[in-house]
Amino acid sequence: MAAALSASEQKKDILVLESAPRVGRKLLATGNGRCNLINMLDAPYYGDAGFAKQVLDACNRADVLAFFHGLGLVTREEGGGRVYPGSGQAASVLDVMRKALDRRGVAILCDGKVQRITRQKNGFRVTAGENSYDGKKVIVACGGMAGGKLGHDGGAYALLTAFGHTLKQPLPALTPLLADKKVIKGLSGLRLPAILTLCDGEKPVSRAAGEVLFTDYGVSGICAMQLSADVHRAKKPILYADFSPMMGLVPCLYERLPVGDVYENLDKVQRLLKDRSSLLPREEVLCGLLPRLLSEKMQGLTGQQLAKMLCAFAIPITGLRGFEYAQVTRGGVNTRDFDAHTMESALQKGLYAAGEILNVDGDCGGYNLLFAFASGILAGKAAAQ
Ligand SMILES: Cc1cc2nc3c(=O)[nH]c(=O)nc-3n(C[C@H](O)[C@H](O)[C@H](O)COP(=O)(O)OP(=O)(O)OC[C@H]3O[C@@H](n4cnc5c(N)ncnc54)[C@H](O)[C@@H]3O)c2cc1C
Repeated sequence: MAAALSASEQKKDILVLESAPRVGRKLLATGNGRCNLINMLDAPYYGDAGFAKQVLDACNRADVLAFFHGLGLVTREEGGGRVYPGSGQAASVLDVMRKALDRRGVAILCDGKVQRITRQKNGFRVTAGENSYDGKKVIVACGGMAGGKLGHDGGAYALLTAFGHTLKQPLPALTPLLADKKVIKGLSGLRLPAILTLCDGEKPVSRAAGEVLFTDYGVSGICAMQLSADVHRAKKPILYADFSPMMGLVPCLYERLPVGDVYENLDKVQRLLKDRSSLLPREEVLCGLLPRLLSEKMQGLTGQQLAKMLCAFAIPITGLRGFEYAQVTRGGVNTRDFDAHTMESALQKGLYAAGEILNVDGDCGGYNLLFAFASGILAGKAAAQ
């Protein structure tokens, strides 16, 4: 939609083909229905990170913000640089885009799953079901496999690989982690601020701070989901939860952190327990310090075991919840043969790609939509020349 809107500024004949019964269904599900559409802060991208940077240099955050303001959307920036529609509703983002497409005469055909794109003498033929459509230029913006029915089944990658583009294996990212159920037994429903370090055995792989949610199958919450794509990098993935932020020993941060020693806050936890134990019986210390589910789980431990559990509660990870529950795809079509300023294929002139179908993904917080919109705007502008 961003690509079509950007192209429509040049008054071209544009057709949007959408496989679903309606456009923008995933947009409505974003940000818990609030649509965190941009993040104003710098953060790393994954996959072809250098390409993502070039795209965001060519169409930066201010450009994407101006694009939406130009459509009449009022936006509001919240903590951590997260930008939402002022209305607090994802529907506002979809509505301003749809109304502008309509006003500018862009045709939209839903229930039109594209199966094939073939080169013709003067452009391309796009085949969707029984119908085919000819056009001079084609932009492929089919998204990724994340989000269950809101994503595609992997077939859309063939639209680009058919022209010689290569694929980095798609994996679910920003998805909850499955854990050893014996270890987390009794904690389901517990939501608290923590620092999570994902290790391969003993070796730290990645780390994030934020809200963690224990479930009956494992660990969820943005903080845990941020680490999910790194689980594939560990042969023996173990998640260490440090509850120091919940105990007020360190600030409650909501961000990725540089990897560090899992027992970093052990001294602080030991000191806190020692101070409190000198005033109160153990049971009362735990009762006033920890949520009930956690304090019940910690009953009967020695002082040393308790301190270790509170700063490095080891949770063996058994897998990921998969694409159905994932917010984004790690992997996708390699960007090596695309121009980051125009999103045009170097292998096939007139063919463009944008968004999550490419091998670029970002953290939670507006980075994925930002990349999708920025690359779409660039592709639309270039294709309309
Ligand atoms: C639950 C959830 C919450 C999220 N929250 C956020 C958030 O708050 N902030 C953020 O930045 N990111 C968020 N994301 C990620 C973000 O939504 C995606 O990265 C982004 O939508 C990708 O944009 P896109 O245009 O590339 O793909 P999409 O938005 O997926 O759009 C691609 C469209 O192409 C259609 N399509 C697919 N295959 C075909 C085909 N063969 N023919 C025709 N049409 C086809 C699809 O139906 C879809 O409508 C969230 C994702 C999920 C699942």
